[in-house]
Amino acid sequence: MQKLALVGLGASGLFALKELAGADVEVHVFDVGPAYARRYPCPIDQGKLEVCPPKACSYCAPGQSAGSWNDFKVILSASPVIGGRLHDLIGEAELQKRLDRVRATILEHAPVAIPVVTPNEEDLAWIKKKAALAGMTYHYQELLHCGSDNAPAINTSILDEIVGKGPNIVFHWDTKVLSASRSGQRFAVRHDHYRKPGQEKEEIFDYLIVSVGRGGAHWLTQQEFYRALDIQPGQVDIGVRVETSCYFTEEVDRRFYEPKLYFRSRRHNDVVRNFCSNPRGFVTPENHRDYVLVNGHSKMFEKSENNNFAVLVSKTFTRPFKDPQMYSQTIAKVVNMLAGGGPLIQRLGDLRAGRRTKSLDNNLVKPTLEAECGDVSLAYPHRILEGIIEYIDALDKICPGVADASTLLYAPECKSYPDSISVSKTMETTIPNLYIIGDSSSWTRGVGQAATSGILAGEAVRARSSGASKLLPPAVPAQPSSSPVAAG
Ligand SMILES: Cc1cc2nc3c(=O)[nH]c(=O)nc-3n(C[C@H](O)[C@H](O)[C@H](O)COP(=O)(O)OP(=O)(O)OC[C@H]3O[C@@H](n4cnc5c(N)ncnc54)[C@H](O)[C@@H]3O)c2cc1C
Repeated sequence: MQKLALVGLGASGLFALKELAGADVEVHVFDVGPAYARRYPCPIDQGKLEVCPPKACSYCAPGQSAGSWNDFKVILSASPVIGGRLHDLIGEAELQKRLDRVRATILEHAPVAIPVVTPNEEDLAWIKKKAALAGMTYHYQELLHCGSDNAPAINTSILDEIVGKGPNIVFHWDTKVLSASRSGQRFAVRHDHYRKPGQEKEEIFDYLIVSVGRGGAHWLTQQEFYRALDIQPGQVDIGVRVETSCYFTEEVDRRFYEPKLYFRSRRHNDVVRNFCSNPRGFVTPENHRDYVLVNGHSKMFEKSENNNFAVLVSKTFTRPFKDPQMYSQTIAKVVNMLAGGGPLIQRLGDLRAGRRTKSLDNNLVKPTLEAECGDVSLAYPHRILEGIIEYIDALDKICPGVADASTLLYAPECKSYPDSISVSKTMETTIPNLYIIGDSSSWTRGVGQAATSGILAGEAVRARSSGASKLLPPAVPAQPSSSPVAAG
């Protein structure tokens, strides 16, 4: 039997594996994280810790932190703008068909009924008018919000079903793939135990599916085959996590949960957008070991009185500059330095007045994350801050109150995306039998499309390994990410 290595079992890897359960191929799954059943919710959310430990605990370490475990919002619409670029790769109908399968799988494995947020005609007419008057563009999406509290049960149940159908699957949990390289027409994969290294092994595989997510993007660039791929530099988003009263946004939250609203900054013409809204949710740290970002999530049962969401300014770069990830990480580290190692918080009123925030006593909006008060403008480029303030002012026309002085801004909220890699409609690269799926391919930006890319690769390998398809469809040239695409 032919052998396949699946490196990374996040959103994309899981749905690829679902397609490969019971196929004519021996599948070896490698993930640095512990077995799904041994993963746990964030200790801060559980009230077991008050602040993040200086080094990331295993929650934020690889294998625990991504969106199918944290918040778990799934964009269900085949949008050309939101959640990734698979619309460009496979077209609306094929994308929607796979997204419908992702939706059905998640709902089937959910421990409770999870509502799908679908805007109705009246909501759409309302937001289109409001957005136009505010100078913003609304992008339609249907959304499933599973919540961090339901994520472990859903993921574990999907995996249990796969295990039941997949005697051809071998799991290597707590295992880091150190390197993957070409070995003739096949692939050599070197791996070791993640927490207790020293048991290094190398095995040869006929197929390689790389699904290491954004966290593994740098690792991917270090692999032997990387230079043989057709690539373009990725995009960065730099912004803040806005936390405001849930009463300012309640109409929009009720109608849409999260409306995707895009804006062009007036002076610099940058695309500014909202991302990851968490009505009645919580702001959280996102610990990357050598720097700490902010993020947000919400739960199905426990609620706060705030809404948090990111406002992000998108930037792409041209040569000779080739390291957008380093750019955003450097900004994040400067913010952390000013804040004594963690995130910084500032009132919008103080930012406008050009002064640091000293205290949040008596502030209308009470923070849900303890962060150091300070001045974000000491770390962020002026161009970025100007875009953020213009966006919040425009949003205030749709959600009156959002631009109040009491609104809180947390930094750093930075997202960087891997290089864009040319792939075929089945996510196969220009190297035969090498598939790069999910966010590490840069074609996806959220759980829904990451899972879809996994389905595409899984279907293709299943067909090829059974002899049904030997054809290699042409890879689509990588497109520079000049038009920013929103994540989930
Ligand atoms: C905190 C957070 C919250 C998010 N919330 C949402 C949300 O609500 N909705 C949404 O749509 N998107 C969300 N996202 C984005 C979403 O997580 C990603 O788009 C999605 O998970 C991408 O899936 P993936 O399979 O490409 O990568 P991932 O899900 O990140 O999976 C990658 C896997 O590869 C493993 N891995 C990496 N390197 C190696 C290696 N060398 N060896 C072995 N294993 C390796 C990792 O352990 C991990 O399990 C969020 C992201 C974060 C960080």
